[in-house]
Amino acid sequence: MNGQAQSSGYHFGYKMLMLALFAGGRPPDWREDAACRGVPPETFVSVQNMAKAKELCAGCPVLAACRADQLAWEKRNSPTRSHPVGVVGGLTGAERRDVHYPPAEPPPPTARLALWLRGTG
Ligand code: SF4
Repeated sequence: MNGQAQSSGYHFGYKMLMLALFAGGRPPDWREDAACRGVPPETFVSVQNMAKAKELCAGCPVLAACRADQLAWEKRNSPTRSHPVGVVGGLTGAERRDVHYPPAEPPPPTARLALWLRGTG
């Protein structure tokens, strides 16, 4: 393991990715067919490799199962809005966070007009 791999940021990301893919127990059956099988985990954790990771995921035959398992795992284990790390299931941490906590939609124009007419908008 090199010096970069031992930095706390990397270690945390690596741990999150491993927890995400293996959930601390037996790897899911779909792992056998994963495009990332045998690919160094740092590919999915480092920001510099994000495009490559997303490309791998885009062509992965188990993308749907991986994404569903990852989102379910995060929902069970991340009750706060903590920023998930790494590309998993084709989604970056920020994209997965938006799935869990969709950004607030702006009010429709009619609602904005009503607020403006009331002098509160
Ligand atoms: S979708 Fe991406 S992270 Fe998930 S198994 Fe496939 S290559 Fe790996």
